[in-house]
Amino acid sequence: VAPGSGIFAVFHAGWRGTANRIVEKGVSKLLEVSGAKAEEVLIAFGPCIRKCCYEVGEEVKRAFAAARQEVSRIFSGPFLDLVEANRRQLFRLEVTRILDSNLCTACRTDVFYSYRRERTPSRIWTIAGFKEPSESPS
Ligand SMILES: [Zn+2]
Repeated sequence: VAPGSGIFAVFHAGWRGTANRIVEKGVSKLLEVSGAKAEEVLIAFGPCIRKCCYEVGEEVKRAFAAARQEVSRIFSGPFLDLVEANRRQLFRLEVTRILDSNLCTACRTDVFYSYRRERTPSRIWTIAGFKEPSESPS
């Protein structure tokens, strides 16, 4: 969210998007379009699969290395930390106001669907918008 501009953006950043820096590119565009300063922008990470559960293959690690990402900082063995990878992209833009739900969709199948954990066809939706300013009672 670029406060005061009426502009926000939502990104789905799976491993391919994260390797290709979709958040860095998208937030860079948000800064450009909104005119907001990096320190004004507010980021929120929603529920997603986390490093506790996101075991990936060597091809994923190779894709991040090929994209010149800090593999040693975002992988722990075969486990990928997507949030940390995206956080590092934001820091490159000097965006540091970051909220994190800290919710892992694979750990919390009591609340969320997880394709990886359950092979469910059900999906999570993310809906974003601005709240209508409330009118004061007359
Ligand atoms: Zn988990």
